[in-house]
Amino acid sequence: MTEKLFDRVALIGIGLIGSSLARVLRRDSPETAIVACARRAETLATVRRLEIADETTDDPAAAVAGADLVVLATPLSAYAEVGRRFAPALSQGAIVTDVGSVKEAVIRDLAPLLPEGVHFVPGHPVAGTEHSGPEAGFAELFHDRWCILTPPPGTAPEAVAKVTRLWEGAGMRVTTMAADHHDKVLAVTSHLPHLIAYTIVGTATDLADDLRSEVIAFSAGGFRDFTRIAASDPVMWRDIFLANREAVLEILQRFSEDLTALQRAIRRGEADRLEARFTQTRAIRRSIIEAKQA
Ligand code: NAP
Repeated sequence: MTEKLFDRVALIGIGLIGSSLARVLRRDSPETAIVACARRAETLATVRRLEIADETTDDPAAAVAGADLVVLATPLSAYAEVGRRFAPALSQGAIVTDVGSVKEAVIRDLAPLLPEGVHFVPGHPVAGTEHSGPEAGFAELFHDRWCILTPPPGTAPEAVAKVTRLWEGAGMRVTTMAADHHDKVLAVTSHLPHLIAYTIVGTATDLADDLRSEVIAFSAGGFRDFTRIAASDPVMWRDIFLANREAVLEILQRFSEDLTALQRAIRRGEADRLEARFTQTRAIRRSIIEAKQA
């Protein structure tokens, strides 16, 4: 970011995503005041030790007072309660954005709480790791990744433009789409893969002791990649599946049908069908590499 977009930014939730954004602001816009808000004293102490905020507080209303940008970066299940607490303290003209992984539920929970004269630009930086907390953050997290904004119809274009510039400054490619479309796309690209990883690793955990130790020893055969995904934050993922229930259930239904078709092909020894399917999926990997998202 070469310009100072905001005077005072309130980061409500300062874990992996919030603290990574704080680091970007610190690096590129040192004149912007950063206020970090979290519930626990130890989180706030870590933020002070890392020197990634000018002020820390456990009170969302105090955090947003005087802020021209508020970024909500808590787990999704905290949004409604936190929003109720900070909404009356928002300044006129302030922009409220968020980083939540599901968008329709966020708009449903938050939009009705926000006063007139405040701009709401929901967003999702599609970047992350399996680690959590302020120490896990780093400024390069967002580099070359996509950020999806889902402004409800009628949102002021200047507010959308400022949030766009914020994420572009962090190195992201920014696009906008309808919230329900976002939730369907992410159900396929992120939520279903996580559910599959949780299932596979869960199945291995339930195996008999002797088999389980061998699964760990020989994990390089593919299992290891799933364990990284299945090590993602349990609270965050609980919230995502509950907040995006409809889209996840729909895509899960499709997935189960496709899995059954492969199961049948294996049982019937349909070599051509299996090979054709695996050839098709290999091409997807190539296009992800070409799009620099590997
Ligand atoms: P995280 O590392 O677990 O951080 C969550 C932060 O929120 C912590 O600072 C936590 O501190 C604070 N917090 C929790 N409940 C709170 C409350 N009621 N009031 C104030 N602060 C509260 O989580 P994250 O990975 O950054 O994820 C945050 C959001 O980003 C989620 O909504 C998630 O969907 C989204 N997201 C995550 C990823 C990813 O890969 N991790 C990627 C894109 C988007 P205390 O515990 O001290 O309160």
